[in-house]
Amino acid sequence: MATKRSEIKTELKKALKSGEIVPYFQPMVGIRTGLLVGFEVLARWLHPQRGTIHPDVFIPVAEQADLIGELTETILLQAFAATTALKRDLNISVNVSPIQLRDSSLSEEIARAAAMASFPLHRLTIEITESALVDNLELAATIAGKLKQLGVKLALDDFGTGYSSLRNLQALPFDELKVDRTFVSSMIQSRDSRKIVAAVIGLGQSLKLTTVAEGIENETQADILRWLGCDVGQGWIYGPPVAARDLSKIIDAPMST
Ligand code: C2E
Ligand code: CA
Ligand code: CA
Ligand code: CA
Repeated sequence: MATKRSEIKTELKKALKSGEIVPYFQPMVGIRTGLLVGFEVLARWLHPQRGTIHPDVFIPVAEQADLIGELTETILLQAFAATTALKRDLNISVNVSPIQLRDSSLSEEIARAAAMASFPLHRLTIEITESALVDNLELAATIAGKLKQLGVKLALDDFGTGYSSLRNLQALPFDELKVDRTFVSSMIQSRDSRKIVAAVIGLGQSLKLTTVAEGIENETQADILRWLGCDVGQGWIYGPPVAARDLSKIIDAPMST
């Protein structure tokens, strides 16, 4: 395993240079309107021998090898360029790693990348996972404040799976709350899951946050979420993540449910 990791590390360095790390785009859809509101940007490694590698495999390596800054930058630049080319008023949501919330230059890097692509920052949402916030809430709050000054929106990702969720919500200026996929997928079988999702959506509403549910795979889940008043949905039912070249097909196709 150790050798495997260091092998991936060497390869990842090369992959970043040769353009094998690319953004994929998953539709985010208004749950009541059925209208496309934007995309979540999800990194993919298009490996010439191994095929498509998912971020769960290479993001931890990038973090450990101090390559995550470079990775975020290449993803942002490509995502900005692809979305700008669509000439629509669509939002993009980009994931940042926990360790990047300790890097006070993050906001400058994002601003620079956006300027290069003439991408308006009010259309960018940065998704932060809860575990990111545990050990350095104060520094994270400073960085979050800088991002907000640029007009960037902030989403609390995977809500309910991390630590001290409510404290995080209170400490940082979030705009959006993402209900974790694990709750959405167990909603149909489990009444408790349904109640948890209802409570999270209610919490988001009372804090005036946009509520987003991820991992929606079927109509029943979409119906329940609509009924609960969730704002935005994401999942196979609306479409999987796609490459930049397929974006134009999606924006012209009507969304289902
Ligand atoms: P996440 O932010 O929670 O992203 C949602 C994950 O759920 C994505 O996996 C997506 O492909 C998957 N998904 C979407 N709809 C459905 C569905 O209906 N059913 C199921 N079963 N899954 C669905 P993916 O793309 O493999 O990404 C995994 C994680 O890697 C992400 O979780 C995110 O935390 C991280 N990640 C992805 N791209 C980046 C990046 O550019 N930078 C950083 N730091 N992390 C990233
Ligand atoms: Ca995310
Ligand atoms: Ca998530
Ligand atoms: Ca996740």
